[in-house]
Amino acid sequence: MLRYAEVLCADCTASILSEGWGKRFEHLVNADFSRCGGCLARIHAAVEQYGTPKLVLEQPLKWMPEKDRREYFAVHEAAHAVVGTDAGFVLDEVLLGHQDTSVHGTSLSSGGMTRWDMEGKRVATDDYHAYIVAGMRANLRWLAERGWDTHANRIDVAYGGFGDVINLENDRGRRVSMREAMDSANRTADARIAQRWPHITAVAQQLLTRSRLNGTEVRRIVTATQASRPTAPSTPTTTTHTGGSAMAGIEEIQAALANTKTKTEQIYAALAQVQQWAGEIAGHLYTTLGQSQQSEVLQAIAAFRDLSEEGQRVSELHQLVYAAVSEIEQYGNRL
Ligand SMILES: [Zn+2]
Ligand SMILES: [Zn+2]
Repeated sequence: MLRYAEVLCADCTASILSEGWGKRFEHLVNADFSRCGGCLARIHAAVEQYGTPKLVLEQPLKWMPEKDRREYFAVHEAAHAVVGTDAGFVLDEVLLGHQDTSVHGTSLSSGGMTRWDMEGKRVATDDYHAYIVAGMRANLRWLAERGWDTHANRIDVAYGGFGDVINLENDRGRRVSMREAMDSANRTADARIAQRWPHITAVAQQLLTRSRLNGTEVRRIVTATQASRPTAPSTPTTTTHTGGSAMAGIEEIQAALANTKTKTEQIYAALAQVQQWAGEIAGHLYTTLGQSQQSEVLQAIAAFRDLSEEGQRVSELHQLVYAAVSEIEQYGNRL
């Protein structure tokens, strides 16, 4: 079984991760790799490495236990529902379960959907774009909580956002590149998701038991969850000096938190990259030296495997960073 991440060439991977899995990659959704020489070369290399022409492409997220996969889809739809509702869109209903649908003329299937009453509504671009990517961004956060935010899984998240990205492509103005549109939407969505995470997970939990919620029910859950949160201690909004050491003003603190969040994204991406490279090295060493029983060779292969997605090392680092950032975020939410 091969995963998409193993088959996609470096160019396709880079485009998908920065611009989203949009319309121009529709053939890849349908496992048609014939249009890219780079991807085809990777498939041929895999055939050689595994020594069989009978390679099967694994469905994205198939590695995840069924119960978790359902929760993953619930979190995706809950994020659309909560971020959209926050932006003032009127939610008709949010559904969990397989849907065949059409987005701007492209047929696709998804693990759920949200329906909105947009009639006569004028919507701010920022709000709308953040709503579009909210499902994917919440999925990344949910994966990170479990130590599952890996390179290969990021590709799976992008695959699941195919329909969302088509919406963004259709709404983006011509003056903005897709990469810029994604970057800006991701930043806004991440900030809103960070604030609303308890609400998003609460809606997702309800979706898991009921599979369908209407707009009123979602708003009720959000309010109830809010009410149960501890009241924040009051924080001075001006610079205070205590015993000679200066405390930063609230804007300064918030800027530092935002910077932490952005830099952390880079750490995650770097860790995912380490996993990918280590996996490639381990695979390559195994193909060329795997027959050798020399202990140095076996140890080297094992070490690189440990750094790859098969191992635990990088996931542990990931969880370490994630836990630290969550603490800081919770602190930030109380400001
Ligand atoms: Zn390619
Ligand atoms: Zn979505």
